[in-house]
Amino acid sequence: MSSSPDTTTSDLLDKVINLCKRRGFIFPSAEIYGGFRSAYDYGPLGVLMLRNVKNAWWHSMVQMREDVVGIDAAILGPPAVWAASGHLETFTDPLVDCKKCHERWREDKIDGKCPNCGGTDFTEPRAFNLMFKTSAGPVEGEGSTAYLRPETAQGMFVNFANVLSTSRKKPPFGIAQIGKSFRNEITPQNFVFRTREFEQMEMEYFVPPADAVQWHEHWIEERFNWYLALGIPEESLRRYVHAPEDLSHYSKGTTDIEFKFPWGFDELEGIANRGDYDLGAHSKASGEKLEYFDQATNERYTPYVIEPAAGVTRAMMAFLLSAYHEDEVEGETRTVLQLDWRLAPYQIAVLPLSKKPELEGVAKEVLSKLQPHFMCDFDVTQSIGRRYRRQDEVGTPLCITVDFDTLEDRAVTVRDRDTTVQTRVKIDDLLHHIWEAMAPA
Ligand code: ATP
Repeated sequence: MSSSPDTTTSDLLDKVINLCKRRGFIFPSAEIYGGFRSAYDYGPLGVLMLRNVKNAWWHSMVQMREDVVGIDAAILGPPAVWAASGHLETFTDPLVDCKKCHERWREDKIDGKCPNCGGTDFTEPRAFNLMFKTSAGPVEGEGSTAYLRPETAQGMFVNFANVLSTSRKKPPFGIAQIGKSFRNEITPQNFVFRTREFEQMEMEYFVPPADAVQWHEHWIEERFNWYLALGIPEESLRRYVHAPEDLSHYSKGTTDIEFKFPWGFDELEGIANRGDYDLGAHSKASGEKLEYFDQATNERYTPYVIEPAAGVTRAMMAFLLSAYHEDEVEGETRTVLQLDWRLAPYQIAVLPLSKKPELEGVAKEVLSKLQPHFMCDFDVTQSIGRRYRRQDEVGTPLCITVDFDTLEDRAVTVRDRDTTVQTRVKIDDLLHHIWEAMAPA
């Protein structure tokens, strides 16, 4: 039996960070130059899992909905966008310096005590703008200033009229986007939880103002259930409703979905009712009408926006922490990542029992039968027991072993990661068997 992980222990965090490095999920960026604290690189397994997290989101938010379309907007943007959105003026964190060790901190994250030296004497907080500023074109100066987007959301607002007229959608409808965002965080920390370069998955759902509260509730439930369906235990998740006095300048109501990270409950995703703030602000600043004309009622209005805003990398971290288990198999401790098969880097590993060419030939045949449908690993090194452990450790749900009997009976052994139960299956029935095994319970 495997034990449920206690996601609150820092021991677990160390184990997951170690596994990520050792097995090629996540590397510190620019490591050969001593690393770059604010950035991480995703290795061969990490890039697969990251893509799976994004695909699972896109599947539920776009593919399964006839009322949501996607876009992919530019990362670089002109100051006008960020002036209208309020980011130039208000996208700031309170920065303080510890008077003893001179380290800089975000005042709202340190509880009055310097995490470096324990000092309690700080400078007055200054508003520090989190946007990365750069210049576009060969001449630096006022006219060339550009910003790296600190969120993907504004791409949806500035394209509202384009999408409305080309997609023929009408409220309630949504525009979804996945992509990189950049924030000059004062203290990037906790592995990939807070980095300066990260990926977001955001959707702006445009609704008639009178329906906004109801749609807000709808999306809070939808998003909570998404994490549950992909394997995060309910006791590791909670909703946190922001107090009215703590709301951001654009928000009429925000509920976060929080995950029990090793340091306590912290934000995974925010779901905000942004009212007509964004469309109103861009309409005013650009002079373009960003409204909807409802022919049925002859009414023109600015839709309200419900925004579920999630982090790809934060979600990946929560999935990894939830999936990490240790149990005992044949008297040995094994590490197993009990990832949902939609998130696991490889769904299947094909393992010929020995390196003999006749076995490898059939194993390659099995592999090419599965590759169009699943991400597969192929491993011929080491003992079969060792190879099973290696796959368990990276969360591969099924291992398929090709042995000498396969040459006679055209059947293979399918081993389940979580139960370790092995089943003999005909090669001809393999695809059907796998689809059954991976169907949600
Ligand atoms: P925080 O309070 O943690 O700084 P936020 O409330 O500013 O986050 P949002 O602007 O609501 O975050 O961004 C939506 C989501 O994007 C967050 O819930 C998180 O998953 C992700 N995210 C935001 N900032 C970062 C970051 N620096 N690194 C990784 N993910 C981030």
